[in-house]
Amino acid sequence: MMEQESEYSYEKCLKKLEDSIPEYIKKVGKFQHENQEWELAEWKMLPRAAETCRVCGKRPIKELFIIRNLRTNELKIVGNECIRKIASPKIANWFAPWEMRRERLERNKPLMEHVDALIRAYKPSANLLNVKGVGEVPFHVSITALKKFRKMRERLCKGYNATKDQRGLWKCYCRRIIEAVEQHKKANTPALDSR
Ligand SMILES: [Zn+2]
Repeated sequence: MMEQESEYSYEKCLKKLEDSIPEYIKKVGKFQHENQEWELAEWKMLPRAAETCRVCGKRPIKELFIIRNLRTNELKIVGNECIRKIASPKIANWFAPWEMRRERLERNKPLMEHVDALIRAYKPSANLLNVKGVGEVPFHVSITALKKFRKMRERLCKGYNATKDQRGLWKCYCRRIIEAVEQHKKANTPALDSR
């Protein structure tokens, strides 16, 4: 039986990335601040925000850590420098790369969807590639390359860049696909000189 490839879309990957925030926030737990217990309630990145850190007064801050007082439910906006001091540097260190991952995911969207399309268009049992607008073209992808493409797709989906090796392999396969399509078209075009 051929395994069913699940579709990777930008939207699905972005949702996964976004879902990792509440999961992480839950794991942070409580911390002491001004002799009271607080927890992290929310995190926001607002590029155009003009908010003020309610601990040190720094303004404007773009990255907002919203903390909640466990006794009074008071909410307080804290910047990334102060969250390091009052809670843990680990928290700020987790969110900074998160934002970069989101940006990278967006940048790599076409590449990820392209890799995903190749993986799903390939029929390993028959060595055929289903090419849009052309149909099934004889094509062979090695098991090793297929595994690498799956890893590449996973990396891109998580908001990391593809490795140099993965990008190189991808380019090589793109050229091979173009060649295979051209050969397939030639083979399926009736000779014109018989007219
Ligand atoms: Zn501050």
